[in-house]
Amino acid sequence: AYTLRDLLTKAVTDAGAGPGTTALTFDGRDMTYGELDARSTALAAGLAAAGFRKGDRVSVIMYNRLEWVELFFALAKLGGVLVPVNYLLAPSEMQYIVEDSDSRWIVVEDALAPAVAPIADQLTGRTIVEVGAPTGIGTAYEDLVAEPGTAAAFALPDVRADDLFLLQYTSGTTGFPKGAMHTHSTVLWNSYHQIVDFDLRTDDVYYVVPALCWAAGFHDCALATLWRGGRVVLGRSTGFDAGAFLEQVERHGVTKVLLVPTVLKRVLDHPGFDRYDTSSLRMVLSGGEPVPPSSLEGLKAKLPACDVLQVYGMSEFPTLMLLMSGKDAAARPGSTGRACSAAVVRIVDENDVDVPPNTVGQIICRSPASMIGYHDKPEATAETLADGWLHTGDLARYDDGFVHMAGRAKDMIITGGLNVYPAEIERVLAAHPDVVEAAVVGEPDEKWGEVGVAHVVLRADAHLDSESVREYLRGTLAGFKVPRRYRLTTQPLPRTTSGKVQKHRLEKVGPTA
Ligand code: ATP
Ligand code: MG
Repeated sequence: AYTLRDLLTKAVTDAGAGPGTTALTFDGRDMTYGELDARSTALAAGLAAAGFRKGDRVSVIMYNRLEWVELFFALAKLGGVLVPVNYLLAPSEMQYIVEDSDSRWIVVEDALAPAVAPIADQLTGRTIVEVGAPTGIGTAYEDLVAEPGTAAAFALPDVRADDLFLLQYTSGTTGFPKGAMHTHSTVLWNSYHQIVDFDLRTDDVYYVVPALCWAAGFHDCALATLWRGGRVVLGRSTGFDAGAFLEQVERHGVTKVLLVPTVLKRVLDHPGFDRYDTSSLRMVLSGGEPVPPSSLEGLKAKLPACDVLQVYGMSEFPTLMLLMSGKDAAARPGSTGRACSAAVVRIVDENDVDVPPNTVGQIICRSPASMIGYHDKPEATAETLADGWLHTGDLARYDDGFVHMAGRAKDMIITGGLNVYPAEIERVLAAHPDVVEAAVVGEPDEKWGEVGVAHVVLRADAHLDSESVREYLRGTLAGFKVPRRYRLTTQPLPRTTSGKVQKHRLEKVGPTA
């Protein structure tokens, strides 16, 4: 079967790329396809000699660096399972993922060893591999990268396209993170979408801004770029610097980059933007949340030839289920776009029956790129993959074939029999000049079944009370949508490391408020 290791073999042998072509650049160092292939095989051989068995899970706690990509391909060659762990998590949260995934191996970078040290005692029975300068908590990575002779004698195990390759943990926005299971095949299909739907070319230079551990990190556009025989420039994971980024674009002739809306804004607002030659950029990808119209206009003014593609995806479908070009975005403001090439997307009611246009329902999707289930969670898997459709838990409506998001299904409030979408109320609240941010949730109520509760974070100098907030909302929203309970605060809302509000962690307000 064609698996992820064939992808690399193809790039090495393909006349378009070849072993001498640069595959990766990081921190002033280039790595060719030939080196990447040889080092990942050597690492695979070293791991096998150290007792690695096919199907072993490997928790990876690393910033962006070349070894991350070497390890990716070593595991593809070994039939191992990659478990990217977000290095921003607290030690106990990392421990949860290491244990939940049943990782026999933990690969940690020296700079992150202090984050792992507090949990090392509880992680017995697992082999820790250290990347970088040895700190003594595990085996040195470079010692595993075996002598070329060992690598030559190493026989690749049989790996199938439907073998598990990746556990991509969800962000934990709605509860504990879940390990979305991906096979060689689903990862390849995700990459294939990137090639087809983003028109990736062999001469593309893709710059990676996000951390490689995220769903939008390595195994989407970066992997697809390597499949094409193009070049991937890895950005540092810590402290994004807009000026340094622009300098890298000029230096490497970057053609494609993914910038989430907040980062895109920082790049466009950088006072030195015009000092750099950014004319090589032909596509900026953005997503995770809607791109504000001001950024779309800013980009058009500064880089008229560059297209902006907005994407929607998730750990269960990383990361391109829906996409929208800049042209479509201009014609249909507020939309998230249309299905990618190999996906059927529907919007359905609670019985999985399609809803009429402009009616809100859940987004479901069928695609060879969809996960095959959640690791060790048969009930959540059965619910999420019912009838072979991936139930995203996100709400949206179709308008003339374009999807418009309406928030998460878990967030929907049913009050007095009417559906209320918190995302709509939150947008109105956020537009108030005295409001920093807001979250609306449902709480049980004797009379209405459920009522809306607004958690509103005010500016320190704001003079608002619950009644004035309620009055403000009444001015814009239908009465049944206006929350009945309020909690005003100046404390920020609880968020995931990727910045999403964790509503399940908000305190209950109760009927007296
Ligand atoms: P958990 O599943 O653990 O609660 P999560 O859903 O936040 O966490 P991810 O898989 O990282 O974990 O995020 C996917 C979600 O992000 C989507 O289901 C959707 O709610 C949101 N999202 C992604 N892209 C967009 C977008 N372009 N517009 C709006 N929302 C988006
Ligand atoms: Mg989710």
